[in-house]
Amino acid sequence: MPRIDKRKIEEAVRMILEAIGEDPEREGLRETPRRVADMLEELLSGYDAGEEYAWFTEQSDLVVVSGIRFYSLCEHHLLPFYGVAHVAYLPKGKVIGLSKIVRIVHKYARRLQIQERMTEQIADEVQKATGSEDVMVVTEAIHLCMAMRGVKTPAPTVVAALRGEFRRDPWLKKEVYDIISPYRLTRHPRLD
Ligand code: ZN
Repeated sequence: MPRIDKRKIEEAVRMILEAIGEDPEREGLRETPRRVADMLEELLSGYDAGEEYAWFTEQSDLVVVSGIRFYSLCEHHLLPFYGVAHVAYLPKGKVIGLSKIVRIVHKYARRLQIQERMTEQIADEVQKATGSEDVMVVTEAIHLCMAMRGVKTPAPTVVAALRGEFRRDPWLKKEVYDIISPYRLTRHPRLD
C-alpha cells in the first residue's frame, strides 16, 4: 500500500474548507483536517476491519460465504460505497476458512475503488487462495455519490464475477443465488 502523507491531507482539507467559504479556525472545524487525515489512513489501509458476521454454507462440492459486509471509497468522488459481498467456489481438495475469505474482501475494499474492479480482484485472489478456477463473487453496494446527488434511487448496484464452472453452468450459478438470497442487500431495509 502507498504511504499516506497525513500532513498533506490536512493542508488540503484546510484548503477545501476555505474554498467552500468556511473558517477552518472555527471551533467545530479546527480538528477536522486531522480527523479526515486519520480517517483516510484507516479507510485506505487495506487492513481487515476486524469483527465480522458472515454465513458459511458447505455442501458436498460447493462452498458459499454470504453477506460479508464491506465499506469502500469510490475513486471518482471519494465518497463511500458499501454493502455486502458473497463468495462461492468449488474446492479442489482445499477449503479455506471463512475469516480468510472475509480478509480478502476487506483487503480490496479498503482502498480507492470502483465496484467492478473490486469484485474482479476478490475473485482473482480467491482463485489463488483456493487453487480453484471455479469462483463466483457477487457484490451489492449503495454508492453515496449516486444516492446523495439524486442521480439514481439508492437501489444497490449488483456486480458479479463468474469464473470457470460458474460461467458455464447456469444451474450452479442459480444455486448460489438461492443460497445467498436471505443475505442479500436488496432484502435489507431500503435507505430511501
Ligand atoms: Zn462515485
